[in-house]
Amino acid sequence: MTDGDAAEAEAAPRIEADGDADVSARAKPLPRQLPIVRDESNLIPARMVNEVLYCERLMYLERVQGEWGENEFTVDGQGVHRKVNEEGKPLRQTGEATADDERREKDDSEPYVARSVWLSSEKLGITAKLDLVEVDGGAVVPVEYKRGSKPDMPEGAYLPELAQVCAQVLLLREHGYSCDHGEIYYAKDRRRVPIAINDSLIARTLEAVVRIRELCAEGVLPPPLDDSPKCNGCSLVGICLPDETRALANVPVDVPDVDDDPVFELGEDPWGLGGGLERPVRRLFPARDDKLPVYVQAQGAMVRLDGERLIVQSSGETAKETRLSNTSHLALFGNVHVTTPVIRRLMDRGIPLLFFTYGGWFTGQTTSHDSKNVELRLAQYAATQDKNRCLVLARGFVASKILNCRTLLRRNHVNPDPVALSELKHLTRKARHADNIETLLGIEGTAARRYFGEFAGMLKGDAIEAFDLDGRNRRPPRDPINALLSFCYSLLAKEVSMAVRAVGLDGMLGFYHQPHFGRPSLALDLMEEFRPVLADSTVIGALNNGVIQSSDFIRAAGSVALTQPARKRLILNFERRMDQLVTHPVFDYRISYRRVLEVQARLLSRLLLGEIAHYPEFRVR
Ligand code: SF4
Repeated sequence: MTDGDAAEAEAAPRIEADGDADVSARAKPLPRQLPIVRDESNLIPARMVNEVLYCERLMYLERVQGEWGENEFTVDGQGVHRKVNEEGKPLRQTGEATADDERREKDDSEPYVARSVWLSSEKLGITAKLDLVEVDGGAVVPVEYKRGSKPDMPEGAYLPELAQVCAQVLLLREHGYSCDHGEIYYAKDRRRVPIAINDSLIARTLEAVVRIRELCAEGVLPPPLDDSPKCNGCSLVGICLPDETRALANVPVDVPDVDDDPVFELGEDPWGLGGGLERPVRRLFPARDDKLPVYVQAQGAMVRLDGERLIVQSSGETAKETRLSNTSHLALFGNVHVTTPVIRRLMDRGIPLLFFTYGGWFTGQTTSHDSKNVELRLAQYAATQDKNRCLVLARGFVASKILNCRTLLRRNHVNPDPVALSELKHLTRKARHADNIETLLGIEGTAARRYFGEFAGMLKGDAIEAFDLDGRNRRPPRDPINALLSFCYSLLAKEVSMAVRAVGLDGMLGFYHQPHFGRPSLALDLMEEFRPVLADSTVIGALNNGVIQSSDFIRAAGSVALTQPARKRLILNFERRMDQLVTHPVFDYRISYRRVLEVQARLLSRLLLGEIAHYPEFRVR
């Protein structure tokens, strides 16, 4: 749940901290208490052998932290395996007696194929589900199905796949079968390739098993591969952020003082990363999400499921149909009904379901189980108990927010007041050096009053006459601009809450905002620097472009609210802003603002896990 209101953040009690804060918020290693693998038997799946030889970080992210990502290759691979895992005969044990000896003799002499054969060996410490095993007389051959084509190499496959097949062969031998080689079926070529099993491959396979146990026992996420082409096809690339993590891991712990930083005036990163990266950071994930959100505002509307489509019905008629595969999230305002099958399917697909009051108050979200990344949440809980680390992060959130407010004024104000700009810069500097959270709270409040005092100067054309803003007010908003701001902050809180949840962080526990019943403190922390960039700019654009007019408001008992049609137009404008491409100020690649939120949340997780020393605040140029 959230208040979704900028001034709420200004007034909210914060986590107390005092004393000098260490300039680095880097995590200290946590005591190792987690199980080394999720399989209670402690056996290593052959698939893990493949993963660790491909990339140790990939194995750790998937198997220890429970991360999972899909891309075209994983979806394709699942399709290939669905076919091969269709029902087939079970693998008969060696020497297994059937109904009578005569039939057994006949059975053993006829070739057959067993599918989805699950074998384990305590001695080898390995377990595997074999796609297919061909049995002919006394000999068996495991066949591993792979999407794609055979690589152009004499071994018939890369080492990770060779070792995976080798593990299967070892398991079959351990269970008494005669097995001298394995095979890989390449689905794209429709071609089977024999895999020779020699001593060298066996040694590499068993070494990989040992290495997996070492990595799990160490409990430290291995570093990303260095500029590797493997990352291009990795489904975890958006989670791992290999180039970004490497770039930030090299940043010195000491941050230059604002006064010494020539680019600070422009709001660029204070560490000079933007122009000083050792090499360009590759954008290895899509620049924007192709899926679209669905908002339902009509009171009494019903959302139900029809196959793979969401159907929104209002007043007995179908108002909207959308495919689940095209839906990023479903947001419901007020009295909207949703069927249990819809909720279950959304949870199955990892599509967030978000609830708002009729007035636009963001009240919470429904998703499937929390992330399996327990390590990350433990690191977050530990960090929030460290007052200095909280202060370091809080300083950055507030300083960047003030700086972004200042940039918005510089860009949009008809005649920006140099005194106001100077004061905001001064307050940014004070925020950067605040001794404690209470002081920071006061600085933020002063900056907000100065900024909102200049806000009306960013209006143009008819909006100048039609709208006025006398400072920020809320609960309820008493003028149209405050009503618009409150609604957009609520939408922004929803976006950041989704990003935080997707990363696996606990949204209720922040560093700047005090835990409070129903308050998504971490989302409020992270959204500080984005309030001017995403919410305020949406409001200014909607007013200056005539999207919202003075007739779009309902005034009652001293409060002001948007009409439903106007809210729809504002949501559209906000969504356009979220989808807009922007150059990331640190990494210098272009991604949508929605992706930026996800990247920032992921980088916060990298900080909490000790991989990077600083949270790279997002400052617009
Ligand atoms: S993106 Fe690269 S470094 Fe990260 S897990 Fe994948 S292969 Fe490994």
